[in-house]
Amino acid sequence: MPSNGMKVAVIGGGTMGNGIAHVFAQSGFDVALVDVSKDMLEKALATIDKNMSRQVKKEIIDEATKDAALKRIDTSTDLKAAKGCALVVEAVPENEDLKADIYKKLDDIAPADAILASNTSSIPITRLAANTGRPDKVIGMHFMNPVPMMQLVEIVRGLATSDATAEAVVKLAGDLGKTPIVVNDSPGFVSNRVLMPMINEAIYCLYEGVGDAEAIDGVMKLGMNHPLGPLALADLIGLDVCLFILEVLHNDLGEDKYRPCPLLRKHVDAGWLGRKSGRGFYDYSK
Ligand code: NAD
Repeated sequence: MPSNGMKVAVIGGGTMGNGIAHVFAQSGFDVALVDVSKDMLEKALATIDKNMSRQVKKEIIDEATKDAALKRIDTSTDLKAAKGCALVVEAVPENEDLKADIYKKLDDIAPADAILASNTSSIPITRLAANTGRPDKVIGMHFMNPVPMMQLVEIVRGLATSDATAEAVVKLAGDLGKTPIVVNDSPGFVSNRVLMPMINEAIYCLYEGVGDAEAIDGVMKLGMNHPLGPLALADLIGLDVCLFILEVLHNDLGEDKYRPCPLLRKHVDAGWLGRKSGRGFYDYSK
């Protein structure tokens, strides 16, 4: 597929950023992938290559599409790579101070008419937008993990997001072959407002000895028809990400039902972050 001439910057090349860069490049967009870490950029390109090879093997894409898509991804450790991009998708860690700083910088770097989209899992879009002089052009573009495989993009409208921005992002999600669902701004939006309390409750069950990890996940898989149990899903998402999201829900909505389980905090303190660190509620070292 030839380039469609539109340039997109993806900020953060971790679990989500590499998947987001993957789907944009595969759909004909030129991508500037930015990360503070050169190492993460190398890992991101290797992951995209591996995941695209898997798609070639399954005959979802052909070899030529893969090669062209990989050539369309440029990497940089400098945020200035967002210059000249019509869309920026931010996927840095779920830390509001970090994101606020990035939005202030992006507001200066990106063209005045560029849309700034956040992949945040829970931080209100209205607050991120307030760091810019273009709150009408700030929106949530919440991809699901793993991005190349998951159909949904939860589109989150902040208080000031314009109709034109929402319409443009809905169309873009469609251009990626995804299904957009538009929701309004609130901590955790719909997806994590519903998912995270379930994951947290599963961790409490483990903490209180109601069942071991296999039993808890087995009940939810076989009994509720979930493809993954909640503990395995938490490991896939990243336990640090889960903790950040629960803290946003707990602080912003103020209800005890969102209080992160102490066992989740312990795992994060130990650096047991799930699949990405080799250990979470399960062992991935082999
Ligand atoms: P991650 O920790 O895997 O990756 C974050 C990346 O950002 C790292 O590579 C890090 O080096 C980079 N980074 C840190 N500071 C930066 C900066 N100043 N500039 C550029 N890059 C920087 O995190 P993730 O899981 O990919 O999450 C990213 C965002 O996506 C978060 O907001 C998270 O809540 C959201 N999200 C995560 C999931 C999931 O399942 N992991 C799903 C949906 C949304």
